[in-house]
Order: sequence, then structure tokens, then C-alpha cells
Amino acid sequence: MSELPPVRGQLLRGEILGPFTWFRVGGPAEVLFLPADESDLADFLTKISPAIPVTILGVGSNLIVRDGGIDGVVIRLAGRQFARVAPMDGARIRAGAGALDSMLAKGAAQAGLAGLEFFTGVPGTVGGALTMNAGCYGRETKDVLVEAQALTRTGERVTLANSDFGFTYRKNALPPGLIFLNATFAGTPDAPDAVLARMAEITARREASQPIREKTGGSTFKNPELASGERLSAWKLVDEAGMRGQRRGGAQVSEKHANFLINTGEASAADIEGLGEDVRAAVRVQSGVELEWEIKRVGRA
Ligand SMILES: Cc1cc2nc3c(=O)[nH]c(=O)nc-3n(C[C@H](O)[C@H](O)[C@H](O)COP(=O)(O)OP(=O)(O)OC[C@H]3O[C@@H](n4cnc5c(N)ncnc54)[C@H](O)[C@@H]3O)c2cc1C
Repeated sequence: MSELPPVRGQLLRGEILGPFTWFRVGGPAEVLFLPADESDLADFLTKISPAIPVTILGVGSNLIVRDGGIDGVVIRLAGRQFARVAPMDGARIRAGAGALDSMLAKGAAQAGLAGLEFFTGVPGTVGGALTMNAGCYGRETKDVLVEAQALTRTGERVTLANSDFGFTYRKNALPPGLIFLNATFAGTPDAPDAVLARMAEITARREASQPIREKTGGSTFKNPELASGERLSAWKLVDEAGMRGQRRGGAQVSEKHANFLINTGEASAADIEGLGEDVRAAVRVQSGVELEWEIKRVGRA
């Protein structure tokens, strides 16, 4: 890659990305940029060639970075500058895009705001939640988001209302290339203890049903939608196809939750993605359903 402009944050060439993801797999970033703050990021985007591909990394809880790594610039909003969570007037709370969803949930509880408890069950960042319309137990990001601020690929700051996102199940309809900076959410007033108690219930429920201490990417496939609008459970289809516990190299379909893939130790990204394709093929044969990946796969094989 040609010369890059000077920055106040860090520019790292050839940094292996596996450690930045939950699966702990994946090759290097041609360049990894850790901006010092929003203006450092905006300046950088203004100055680099529009031909350079840019990829954003949250905490990699919904991501397979392929073994060949990622060309161009990978940006990660690390550090406190991007992770502030602050209550606002009118039963609202704002969080930086680099803040963990669990910190947002905790901040809302401390501010006496109900409605954001579900974020305690999503192990990603606010930026990842805006991208994925993350949710669980009947609530999604779209139910609580007021607005978000983002930078365009050329460094221009934009404000997006909830309706601009075009949210549907686990995605938004925004043009690609936006980098979320922060988001404002609305809750409803409640006693902090009551909110914290509901968060504890969510945590206990997840511990019991999901392999949340493994190297995983969460739900691998979206729950397929029938023509009637009803959704099938992906895990049931995987189970019916006999794929629970199946392996490829160091990758395995979780015994605990059949829609989770896990890295048992030495898996490559190719093992994990290949096992996912094995599952899709088995489900196609067994039930005729075409499973769609929920996990994003980026980079070169
Ligand atoms: C154990 C486990 C349980 C999970 N349970 C749930 C669940 O219940 N519900 C659910 O919805 N998900 C769940 N997930 C999946 C995952 O946590 C969510 O999709 C989460 O929103 C991803 O956030 P992230 O920061 O890890 O994003 P990443 O995985 O790093 O990236 C995901 C996408 O978001 C984009 N992105 C991230 N930050 C930004 C930004 N600032 N600007 C622009 N784009 C950005 C990336 O480019 C990528 O396209 C689970 C995952 C695990 C490992």
C-alpha cells in the first residue's frame, strides 16, 4: 500500500487479526489502524485514496476473518475515546460505537432505564449492534435506537435516524462503508435494582443454553423465514440433519447449541467456514432449506 498520512493513533502493518476475534482465527491486516479519536479517524479517511478497501472490526464476535487476512485498512475503535456511555435527558443514553453492549446495558441500569437489558446478552460492541440489528429474547437494536452518528468512507460526519437504517432481522439497509461513531438509545424509567435483576436473569439463561465461554461466533445461521412470515429455528434444522457435534479439523458444531460453531483449539478459519458449509449442505439435503450465514466472513481464503 502506498504512503499513508500521519496519524495520532497507531498504524500497524501485518498485525494478525485472530486475537481480535472471538473465534481466535484469521490472518493479518495489511494495515490495522487504531485511531486516537474521532477527528484522527475523520482526517485519515479524508486523506487516504478512495481505492483502498476499509474494513471495520468491532470485537469480532460475529466474524470469521479468513486465513489469508484482509487487504487494505482494518479499523478498530479501541480505547476509552470510543467507549463512553453517558445518560442524557429524556430517558436516553448515548454510547460510543466501541463500547461493549454489556456496558451500555449496565449504564442504562445505573441510570434507571429499562428496555436495554437485552444488550447484556450480546457480547459485541454498539457499532456491531447497529450493523447487525443485534438482539435477543424478543428485543432488537431497532426497538431502542433513536439515532446514530457515523463517518462516511470519505470522512464526512452524518447523523442517521432510526428510520434511516431500514432495520430487518440481523441487518440494516444502509449503504456500505459507514463507520458508526456513537448511538443514542431510549429507555423507560425504572428502579436500577429491578433492571439489574432482569439482566442477571438474561445472563443465567444464556449460560445455561449457549457455549458462551468457547471460541465461537454466536449464532452461525439466521433462522430461516417461511412464506407465512414464521421463522424456523436454525439449530433444529442443524440437529435434524445430524450435524450436532460434527467436526472438520479443529472446528466443531457445538454439542450445547447446534447453531454455534466452535474452535476447539487449533482450528483455522478454513476449518470453521468449511464446517459451516458442510452444515448448510446437510440441511439442504435433509430439509430442503437453504441456511443463510449470520456470521460475516471477511478477507482472503
Ligand atoms: C457467545 C455469543 C453469543 C451471541 N449472542 C448474540 C445474540 O443473542 N444476539 C445477537 O444479535 N448476536 C449475538 N452474537 C453475535 C454478535 O455478538 C453480534 O452480532 C454483535 O452485534 C457483533 O458485534 P461486534 O462488535 O463483535 O462486531 P464484529 O463481529 O466485529 O463485526 C460485525 C459487523 O459489524 C461491523 N461493525 C462493527 N463495528 C462497526 C462500526 N463502528 N461501524 C461500522 N461497522 C461496524 C463489522 O464491519 C462487521 O460487518 C453472539 C456472539 C457470541 C460470540
